[in-house]
Amino acid sequence: MKSYTELLEANKEWAAQQLSVDPAFFSNLAETQTPEFLWIGCSDSRVPANEITGTTPGEIFVHRNIANLVVHTDVNMLSVLEYAVMHLKVKHVIVCGHYGCGGVKAAMGNNDFNQILNMWLRVIKDVYRHNRGELEAITDINERADRLVELNVREQAEKLCKTSIIQKAWKLREGPEIHGWVYGLKDGLLKEIINIKPGETVIDPIYVYDNI
Ligand SMILES: [Zn+2]
Repeated sequence: MKSYTELLEANKEWAAQQLSVDPAFFSNLAETQTPEFLWIGCSDSRVPANEITGTTPGEIFVHRNIANLVVHTDVNMLSVLEYAVMHLKVKHVIVCGHYGCGGVKAAMGNNDFNQILNMWLRVIKDVYRHNRGELEAITDINERADRLVELNVREQAEKLCKTSIIQKAWKLREGPEIHGWVYGLKDGLLKEIINIKPGETVIDPIYVYDNI
């Protein structure tokens, strides 16, 4: 286990290393940020957006929560989405889940995690209920959980299209493209689950705002 002071020491070394490669690294970044990607990922410490995609500071705008959920009443996620899409004008929004997700596994069971976590995980229980037939045909419980991870990513990516933020951006600038990926903790690889082009119809018409 590292002490917090080791983190501060490591930070000094990292900053010096960056400057030795590029003396203007921080002064350039301090001016502005122009990331092309918004990442909505799981809070799990094993899935850091920059490291697994080979990107550096300034390239990905990041929002993370338990089990990478897009919840329509989540002001935190929505404010990140609005800022990234309308102001930073990101070209891609990526919802990234991961196999072995503790949040997804927890939602598959019937344990009471107390109200706040119950409320959060309930969103995944809905995904389970909508896909119960397919999921319960998978007998291995870990494989079933991994399939739910994929279905959850698909669902959350589609839910982005139900927001007026994405619908407005698609109308104004024909972007961003929306992606659903799953990261493998065991092999370090990303798998594409869904890719939604701007304007593509993947949601029920009841969610489409026609006066945007
Ligand atoms: Zn997770």
